[in-house]
Amino acid sequence: KESIHLINQTLKRLKNPKKPKTMKLCELSPSYLKLAILLFLVLLQSNSWADSASTLENFIQCVSLNSDLSVLPLSDTIFFSPNSSLFTSVLQSSAQNLRYLAPSVPKPAFIFTPLQDSHVQAAVICSKQLKIHLRVRSGGHDYEGLSYVSQIETPFFLLDLANLRSVNVDIKNNAAWIQAGATIGEVYYRIYQKSKVHGYPAGLCTTLGVGGHITGGAYGSMMRKYGLGADNVDDAKIVDANGRILDRAAMGEDLFWAIRGGGGASFGIILWWKIKLVPVPATVTVFTVSRTLEQGATKLLYKWQQVVDKLDEDLFIRVLIQPVSATAAKNATKRTISTSYQALFLGDSNRLLQVMRKSFPELGPTKKDCIEMSWIDSVVYISGSYPSGSPAEVLLQGKTTSKVYFKAKSDFVTYPIPEMTLEGIWNRFLEEDNPFTIWTPYGGMMSRIPESAIPFPHRKGTIFMIQYLSAWFDGDLKSTVKHVKWTQRLYDYMGPYVSRFPREAYVNYRDLDLGVNKKNNTSFIQALSWGNRYFKSSNFNRLVRVKTKVDPGNFFRHEQSIPTLSYTPVQSRKRSEGPNETMKG
Ligand SMILES: Cc1cc2nc3c(=O)[nH]c(=O)nc-3n(C[C@H](O)[C@H](O)[C@H](O)COP(=O)(O)OP(=O)(O)OC[C@H]3O[C@@H](n4cnc5c(N)ncnc54)[C@H](O)[C@@H]3O)c2cc1C
Repeated sequence: KESIHLINQTLKRLKNPKKPKTMKLCELSPSYLKLAILLFLVLLQSNSWADSASTLENFIQCVSLNSDLSVLPLSDTIFFSPNSSLFTSVLQSSAQNLRYLAPSVPKPAFIFTPLQDSHVQAAVICSKQLKIHLRVRSGGHDYEGLSYVSQIETPFFLLDLANLRSVNVDIKNNAAWIQAGATIGEVYYRIYQKSKVHGYPAGLCTTLGVGGHITGGAYGSMMRKYGLGADNVDDAKIVDANGRILDRAAMGEDLFWAIRGGGGASFGIILWWKIKLVPVPATVTVFTVSRTLEQGATKLLYKWQQVVDKLDEDLFIRVLIQPVSATAAKNATKRTISTSYQALFLGDSNRLLQVMRKSFPELGPTKKDCIEMSWIDSVVYISGSYPSGSPAEVLLQGKTTSKVYFKAKSDFVTYPIPEMTLEGIWNRFLEEDNPFTIWTPYGGMMSRIPESAIPFPHRKGTIFMIQYLSAWFDGDLKSTVKHVKWTQRLYDYMGPYVSRFPREAYVNYRDLDLGVNKKNNTSFIQALSWGNRYFKSSNFNRLVRVKTKVDPGNFFRHEQSIPTLSYTPVQSRKRSEGPNETMKG
């Protein structure tokens, strides 16, 4: 009402015969100027609403021609336009990083939440036909919001797979077919419902969507024993760039290789994974032992780096590092650094204590620190997302309750980081509001799987992986710049102490600082700047070859998608000329 009133007023004033007929914008009084701009914005918005409504109408028509749309009504059940009252809540539902929900960030023209596989096929076909760019989301944990925001291409729509979350466990064959929209916590729980001695070695955060998570590798607390989630996949069903559903036999081994670790949304849309279940003991043991700087944290962390990749494969000890207040630290007089050693042992506490005494006595967990429990309870414990003692059923909640603005980056470490450098990290941490770093141990099975087995290359020689993160709670641009810069400065500081040539990074910790594709135009040379770090050169080259073969038109693309290569036909090229490395998709 207020807007209409203002518009009428503006129109009246603009029509006022006493005023000169032509008037420059700068001659308008400030309040008059405000009203004129408001009028313009309102008209613009109503136009873009109309545009987006007709795009959605065409899209629905196309989807109904290409699949069975028996659900009614369609709008606000599986299609959501920006003027729907549910649009914002559906958009925000699983999005993790508040930075990418800010008002200034581009929003999808509409959201489609399919109910069956054929809807996903139709979404691909119609996206192509209507030339509207597609972003696909499973669990929404992408660090740079790539699953629900396109910064390089508009209009785009969001294909949200949240309704596709079946998990069919087949204990007899040690397997499960899991649908892309299921969370990894739901997968763990459904396995546990069928067997207390089976598990799956993937992420520690239980709200991750298996659609995006496994495409990037999927590490977790059983990685030293069994490798990654992506190392334990037997089959998959995807929708390819032509809208066909392909299983492993139909897609061939090259594409099946690429989707297990080559990163999300470059090769097709994962509908289902067939995962291999792994044995877990009926009783596992967990502990969390913390040390502050005042308790010798620096020396202890130096020791951890020397032993952690050589520990018994049943043992996983990661370190969570953050500043804590003097009150929280108890033994400190000022803000200090806390290092929390969080462990999962695939066995009972007696054997765990023996292993610890032999290989890492400096940490010194006691019998009292060790808690024996079922594997599924250890999943709840290690996730850190639920109040202590929560039942396994919390894994069915599916969504994260706390969200923050954050920037993260990753590194892989091949030589222990000297104590002096650790002290430099602490100094930087003590200057920042909410920094956090997680150090994840490698070795064991991770170092026995060859680098080329799947696109994830961080294997033999890696002692541990680092994730750096800064979180903040307000969307103010100044805060964003401050915290992003802090993270980048820390990353620069760490350069000499981490893997080099390339400085490796984890594709599932998506980091756009490493470089981005230009709008609908991928360049192999440009993509090397992130491709070599995420995959190392030989895997990256193979990913590019697969991409060029299966999606030459570059339908599946985003800021860091795998590029295609085009070669000028041989007859029109001089023999001495190299391949033409860029391609407009
Ligand atoms: C709080 C938190 C904790 C984490 N913990 C871990 C951990 O313990 N271990 C670990 O390995 N990683 C971890 N990650 C990283 C996580 O693995 C990646 O962010 C992963 O991509 C998330 O998948 P998603 O489906 O939830 O995300 P989405 O944002 O939905 O998707 C991520 C990417 O995959 C694409 N994609 C999504 N669905 C599909 C699909 N069906 N087919 C093809 N492409 C698709 C998206 O377009 C996007 O590019 C964590 C992330 C967060 C935010």
